[in-house]
Amino acid sequence: MLNDGLTEEELFSFFNRVKGSDLDHRFILSSMCTVPHPVAVRAHNLFMETNLGDPGLFPGTASLERLLIERIGSLFHLPAAGGYATSGGTESNIQALRLAREQKREIQSPNAVVPESAHFSFKKACDILGIEMRSVTLDHTLRMDCADAEDKIDKNTICLVGIAGTTEYGMVDPIADLACIAVEHEIFFHVDAAFGGMVIPFLEKPIPFDFMLPGVTSIAVDPHKMGLSTIPCGCLLTRDPRMLNILNIDTPYLTVKQEFTLAGTRPGAPVAAALGVLDYLGVRGMKAIVAGCMRNTARLIDGMESFGIERAVTPDVNVTTFVCKDVPDRWKVSWTRRGHLRIVCMPHVHRDQIEEFLKDIGEIYA
Ligand SMILES: *Cc1c(COP(=O)(O)O)cnc(C)c1O
Repeated sequence: MLNDGLTEEELFSFFNRVKGSDLDHRFILSSMCTVPHPVAVRAHNLFMETNLGDPGLFPGTASLERLLIERIGSLFHLPAAGGYATSGGTESNIQALRLAREQKREIQSPNAVVPESAHFSFKKACDILGIEMRSVTLDHTLRMDCADAEDKIDKNTICLVGIAGTTEYGMVDPIADLACIAVEHEIFFHVDAAFGGMVIPFLEKPIPFDFMLPGVTSIAVDPHKMGLSTIPCGCLLTRDPRMLNILNIDTPYLTVKQEFTLAGTRPGAPVAAALGVLDYLGVRGMKAIVAGCMRNTARLIDGMESFGIERAVTPDVNVTTFVCKDVPDRWKVSWTRRGHLRIVCMPHVHRDQIEEFLKDIGEIYA
């Protein structure tokens, strides 16, 4: 029930109490989100009230969105890529499938060929858009099986999807091979790099997954995961900068006449935050963050295996999975659909926590 108004003190003592029951990030080993970089928080606060849904009112903030897409485009080997900032991987994937369907309007019963390891957002996207989702099996390394993908493609296929950094196992699908298949069959190829897009380019040995490969049509990437931005910030990039215009609808009463976005009102704050982190840290800073996460990933795998707890796979990015049933309560971990223990070595998961976690596990298993 609404009351007659609280004092600010009453209100914030309530909020602080409530926030106290959220988990402490030190124990969160299951999330792909992390504590935003201080620069992201400062940028977010500065742009708090901006609305990218009405860009004519905020031309300055709108220019930051274009800069963010350009920065990520360059990182993905195509500075001239098109794109915009979404609310995250889910919206990016929905929009990518919308684009793919729009290009093949004549197909009556469209299908999308998606790996079994795909994020559940593809279920939502296919459901909303009336697209049949065809699941492709994985090989023994839990990467998409190209032969099966090719088998599943037919004349009604509007989109092929590959994952660069799977949510559950941190694997990069054979994107180069899939890109060739897409070219051969002339189909839209969407790469879901929601997690891996802010990791792979900064690895010591980057795995090809981006616009460098001619068959890649669009890419989803989430600055609010490994990009250390504030939530919500995803990006959808397209090879053809004009492609998004096929989604344009008329927008009377706004400062722009048309928009192709899914959301109407869109926050400028996390966009400034995402750009802020990239420009502040630069390539060197991002490489250092990613290198730290990958070192912790390797240490965690080594430590677990020293107790006889085997890795499920050797991941390409900082997601670890183990054949393990029991973890002390204070650690917030997750479990994959196949029943493996899953720990994501995000930037807030420091080496000390890894060692502390291993010590706890050692008391059970050593
Ligand atoms: C996290 C993730 C998504 C969904 O992103 P949201 O930001 O949660 O909507 C999609 N695909 C992959 C591979 C992801 O890891």
